[in-house]
Formats: sequence, C-alpha cells, structure tokens
Amino acid sequence: AAPVAFMGGMSSAARLNVIIKDGGVLEMLARVRSAAFDKTGTLTQGKADVVDIHPASRSSSETLQLAAAAEQYSVHVFADPIVAAARAQQLELPDVTNADEVATNGVLAHLAGGAVVRVGKPAFIEEATVSIDRPELRAGETAVYVSVGDELAGTIILSDPIRPHAAGTISRLRGAGVAEIVMVTGDVVPTAESVAQTVGIQTVHAETTPQTKVEIVQAIRPRPVLMVGDGINDAPVLAAADIGIAMAGRGATVASESAAAVITSNDIARVADVAYVSRRTVHIAL
Ligand code: ADP
Ligand code: MG
Repeated sequence: AAPVAFMGGMSSAARLNVIIKDGGVLEMLARVRSAAFDKTGTLTQGKADVVDIHPASRSSSETLQLAAAAEQYSVHVFADPIVAAARAQQLELPDVTNADEVATNGVLAHLAGGAVVRVGKPAFIEEATVSIDRPELRAGETAVYVSVGDELAGTIILSDPIRPHAAGTISRLRGAGVAEIVMVTGDVVPTAESVAQTVGIQTVHAETTPQTKVEIVQAIRPRPVLMVGDGINDAPVLAAADIGIAMAGRGATVASESAAAVITSNDIARVADVAYVSRRTVHIAL
C-alpha cells in the first residue's frame, strides 16, 4: 500500500503547485524537525521597489543610470526594479563591455569608457571604495550601494516587503513539529534581524556566502534539515540540505535544479502545506 500512498501524496502536492522529484522526498520531509530559510526572495516577496536614492559623488539619476547599466545583466531580485526605475525616468544607459554577477555580493560591470561600476552590498563596494555611509532604514527596506571607480556614486534604497504568509508559514511549520528554524541570508544584520523578528525566527545567520550557507545548514541538528531558498546563491545549500525546496521566480531555474521540490505558485504557505501533506502521507503509508 505504501507506493499508492506516496503517489497520492505527490498528487496532493502537485495540486498545491509543489513539484516533488520523487516519493522519497515526502518520506524525508515528514521526518524533518529543523529548517533554514533564505531571506531575500524567500521570506520577502522578491518584488522590490526603488523607494529613494541618496546621491554621493554622482547625482541620483546618474547613480540610477550606472546601477541599471550593470543590473541589466543580473538575475538578482533587485535587478529588475533598478532597471525599471531607470526606464521610468527614461534614462539612457551607458554601454557595458562586460558584467559579472558576484553571487551574494552584487554586480561588477566595466563600462565602454573603461570605468568600473559595482552595485551591491557594503563589503563588496568597500573592496573598491574608501568608505560608505550607511543610511537609516525603515522596516522592509534594504540599501544597495553603487560605486564607480573608487568613489561611492550613491545609494539606492529598495523596499522588499515580507511575504504576507511568511509568519504564518513559520508558525504552522512549528505546529508540524519543526522546532528548530533559522534564517541564512547574504544580507546585512539589521535588515536580516528586522525580517526575522517579523516572521518569528530567533536565530539569524547574516552576511553568509553560498558556501557558508552550506556549512551552517550542515551543522544544524537534529537532522534531517529542510532548506527553503530561491536564488542562484542558494543552489549549493539547496543541494546540501536533506531536502531543498525552491521558490520559483527569476534566477530560480538554477535553484530549482538543485532542489528536491519546487513551489511553482510563488506562495511560501505551500512549504507548510506540503509539510502537512508529507506527515499525512507517511501516516497512511506506514
Ligand atoms: P539572501 O541570501 O537573503 O537571498 P542575497 O544574498 O540574494 O540575499 O542578497 C543579499 C544582499 O546582497 C542584498 O541585500 C544586496 O545588498 C546584495 N546583492 C546581491 N546581489 C545583488 C545585485 N545583483 N544587485 C544589488 N544588490 C545585490
Ligand atoms: Mg534569496
């Protein structure tokens, strides 16, 4: 009877828009007592908006122009809103000869004139720039810094709202017996902690890299551990966790390939739904 129950479980999951690679995933998921969540694009909507620009050595619109030129080549959740903001102001973008996404850090672009532009987090910008001023941020806001050469061009403030079902999903998972839940994010401490507090996660690992995300998740006990993530920077940790669930979005194709399950409806509540499906399925199968 067991295979039939697992097939039933997989079709229940499919009706919830959760694609599961095989029945073993449900069996493993039913035993999960620990979980790690990525922040940007996973607990937050990953549909950010540019809300403000603080000029530094360049004007606000020049800052946006430089950032958008580089972000055209990025699949990060902040790339689209920055490019869209530049389009909305009908800014012409400088020619880019070469652009690289530096996972979990930002984008590095070489302009046709030879200038080097960086867009991303403080540590990444400080590799090129003397110093930066960190602005005061409201809840749900993140700062993205833009440098050109060794100067800070300006700072772009984005709001990346928390998903409406994020807090409910965390508490329903706890209700399903997942007692240990942590956040692993590439973002800086203040933004990470404000999101963690809102969704009800007490343990926060901020400023992680794709590799340290793997190390943190491998150290979590008890096993098996569930990882929920979205971006290209989550591909290694989704593969390293006992179960990886990918939120489908932009840049999620790479994440999806590494995951045991993919949520195609972009609704985080499905994580808790499928955890309950797994428990029901295993109960029926045993
Ligand atoms: P998470 O691990 O929570 O998904 P990310 O590592 O994707 O977070 O992003 C964390 C931070 O890295 C962002 O808040 C931003 O400062 C920076 N960052 C990474 N890639 C980019 C990019 N392409 N453009 C702008 N900022 C970026
Ligand atoms: Mg992410």
